[in-house]
Amino acid sequence: MKQTCPNCNSVFDCQVENAAACWCHKLPAIAPIEAARCLCPACLKAQVQEQIEQFVADFKAGKRYNTAPDYKRPGRPVEGIDYYMENGMFVMTSWSHLKRGYCCGSGCRHCPYPKG
Ligand SMILES: [Zn+2]
Repeated sequence: MKQTCPNCNSVFDCQVENAAACWCHKLPAIAPIEAARCLCPACLKAQVQEQIEQFVADFKAGKRYNTAPDYKRPGRPVEGIDYYMENGMFVMTSWSHLKRGYCCGSGCRHCPYPKG
């Protein structure tokens, strides 16, 4: 069904009657569900990115446990959430490292784990 984004007024498809099949299921369910109506893909992604940024900052500051592995979803990594492209190369985000749950020891650019 068509919905109007309460944030930016754009019209988008929402499969509220079959939530598991909706595009929004590919994003980690980390954003607070405050609105009765769903956000459009762009606004939801921006909100999720904000939440993840806070999550990573809190983890690095030792203010929270790493619960990111709980947000793992089957399916492909999401651009802008799990990775971004730079000169044709995949760069994994801190979030994707947190979802793995441990440091792989390869000196990744966005490794969020404390250095021993
Ligand atoms: Zn929107």
